[in-house]
Amino acid sequence: MKWYEKPVRMMRWDYMNNITKMREMDLDKLAKMKKEKWHINCEWIVGTPGISPGGGYLTTFKAEGFQRYPGFEDFDSLREYLPYAHKYGIKLLVYLNMHWYSYEFAKIHPDWEQTTSNGQAYGKIHPLYGNGTTFCVNSPWRDWAFKLIKETMKAKVDGIFLDGPVVFPDCCYCQYCQEKFKKVYGKDIPGVEDWKDNLWKNFVEFRRNSLAEFLRDAQNAVKEINPEGVIFLNAGGWQPSGWRAARDIEKMESYQDFNGAEEFFHSKRARTIFDTSMMAKYLRAGEKPAVVFSDYTMGSWHYIPLEPAEMKLALAQTIANQANPWFAFFDPLAKNRGANEPVAEILEFAEKNEEYYIKSSSVARIALHFSRQSSTYYLSQFDSLYKDIGTGKEEGLMVDQGTGKLVIDWRKRKSVNEFLLYNAYLGSYLSLTRGHIPFDIILDKDLTLKKLKRYEVLILPNSACLSKKQRESIKEFIGQGGKLFTSFETGFYDERGNLVEDKDWKNFLGVEKIEGLFPPMAGENYIITKEEFGRFQKNKLIERPILALKVKAENGVKTPLFFLNPIPRVYMPLGDVSSYPALLIKKYIKGKIIYSPSLLEAFYGEYRIKSSSYLINQIVEMLSPKKIIEVKAPPTVEVEIYYQKDSSRYIIHLINGSGDMERPISNFIPVFEIKIKINKKDVKRVFNLRDKRKLEKINDFYVLPKLIDYDIIVIELK
Ligand SMILES: [Zn+2]
Repeated sequence: MKWYEKPVRMMRWDYMNNITKMREMDLDKLAKMKKEKWHINCEWIVGTPGISPGGGYLTTFKAEGFQRYPGFEDFDSLREYLPYAHKYGIKLLVYLNMHWYSYEFAKIHPDWEQTTSNGQAYGKIHPLYGNGTTFCVNSPWRDWAFKLIKETMKAKVDGIFLDGPVVFPDCCYCQYCQEKFKKVYGKDIPGVEDWKDNLWKNFVEFRRNSLAEFLRDAQNAVKEINPEGVIFLNAGGWQPSGWRAARDIEKMESYQDFNGAEEFFHSKRARTIFDTSMMAKYLRAGEKPAVVFSDYTMGSWHYIPLEPAEMKLALAQTIANQANPWFAFFDPLAKNRGANEPVAEILEFAEKNEEYYIKSSSVARIALHFSRQSSTYYLSQFDSLYKDIGTGKEEGLMVDQGTGKLVIDWRKRKSVNEFLLYNAYLGSYLSLTRGHIPFDIILDKDLTLKKLKRYEVLILPNSACLSKKQRESIKEFIGQGGKLFTSFETGFYDERGNLVEDKDWKNFLGVEKIEGLFPPMAGENYIITKEEFGRFQKNKLIERPILALKVKAENGVKTPLFFLNPIPRVYMPLGDVSSYPALLIKKYIKGKIIYSPSLLEAFYGEYRIKSSSYLINQIVEMLSPKKIIEVKAPPTVEVEIYYQKDSSRYIIHLINGSGDMERPISNFIPVFEIKIKINKKDVKRVFNLRDKRKLEKINDFYVLPKLIDYDIIVIELK
């Protein structure tokens, strides 16, 4: 295995504008401290700083033809520090800021700037971090960038990380992009966002291809100097709006050695306690080793370290999901003493127990799809979906039912659809994780029979945009005995978002016909059980998701749940049972399909109403084979299970997300007596790694007496 294929623990120690502070340090001591007090094995050193007012053109090292950062004229940070880093087993990667340049530097190269649709430089309209601008990957800046990359690699460092470039929103319309676009598509770049226009969609692809091509050539520049050198960039995470910055790991990963994305903690924007895990698991779905970037800062207060418990949670979720941790630590005054402790606690554990992290494969038999195609091109055909319906919140004798107005603007409509996908993915992820149902994420390119055959159950949470080939592979997979849980408009559009009249696909889902959308409403609309269904008794009301299709089921399809006729306002009598089923269960050759006409997953993601989560998990468990390992723990405990074939053992990661019910969490609330049932006869030994104790077996369960933050249970087989 190459070094970057093994567990890597990365950090960036940042002095910000005091960057020259490094010169005063004892570099031997510095490297030793990072190794022994922080337990890293890879460090990023700033080569071109990401600091105000845009220092991307100034180097901290000797680079022929480039200007030095003031204070580094006679000091080469890379060549000075490298021997000490290597002495302590630390790989050295150089951080190159490739997206933030001062106006002063841009003035020398006015044609390099990214340009918006109105012809102005992006940085003029949207100053970067309040001051500075950004360059275009298709402009001659690219050659400047590749030259800088080569100069960097000449210092014999282990590789580089590119912070940027991205193609910024509403970019790029510079002369070079216009020329290149015309050469490929024969026309000028369309001036406005219009999702009915195929040329606009070509532009979306063009932006993404341009960024990938830049990375390809940047990788060539690295390999030209050192064929073993690594390169990667800030390639973006799972967020459905990623297309706006042209970021996509599926496009980039052929040209980089890690798939990395940010999951920075911000108290106002913390979605769930599983945020970092969500990013890690998404990145792991790619083919390259994953890295999750966690700032070790109190949100945007960069000079104060994050609460220790929150930092431990982020690092534990990262490594438990087979991603590599990375954190930035800002210490311009070199005064944050003791800040290493929470980091060291997790990373030292990972360092000491490395053998339990390598060569292990997920035991998940369930694949949850994240659809980049849908997040880029999905625009629902149903107009009423774009109505402002408010939040449904009742307060002060008023209910917020919105204005009822239709959103017309394309851009806004697009973000409505992105929000649905965001919540559908979030809802599925959260529901399965809280239910301790092991699953993997799969990406668009994995929707092939070969990849799907690794799994028993496929979940397509409103994966609206699927190519013909993907739809066919899915059918084939189910026909051969696979199981499918899907919802709403899955597969109703092709990979570029064009509505497809694929009657066979709808029949495959058990749908005879679709008669439209129920009026969307947040509240007072219901589903009823016509028979007992899982934990729901017969004739039980369940909150109806806001978006639900009126479908008629084919003959022979089971329909245990129905929608009630809609109610337009709150506090009105209940409607009767409608003729539209809320769940369709169908056998298909050797397999099975459960289709939800409502957007159940997004409803859970947005509203967190428990019944939708119970339904999701109930459906998935109905379709799943018996679990090899069952874990009884509160929903706040994340369970990730792997198998190491070479040593015949199961590895269970337990991460406790139980805290003080506000973020950032300041304390873990310990969980007692986590019970583990192993449905295998050949168990030799079960023990935990935190204190290396054998787990006692009580009745059918092995019991972990106490989980504080993070632990690993090892199950050795005979
Ligand atoms: Zn351009």
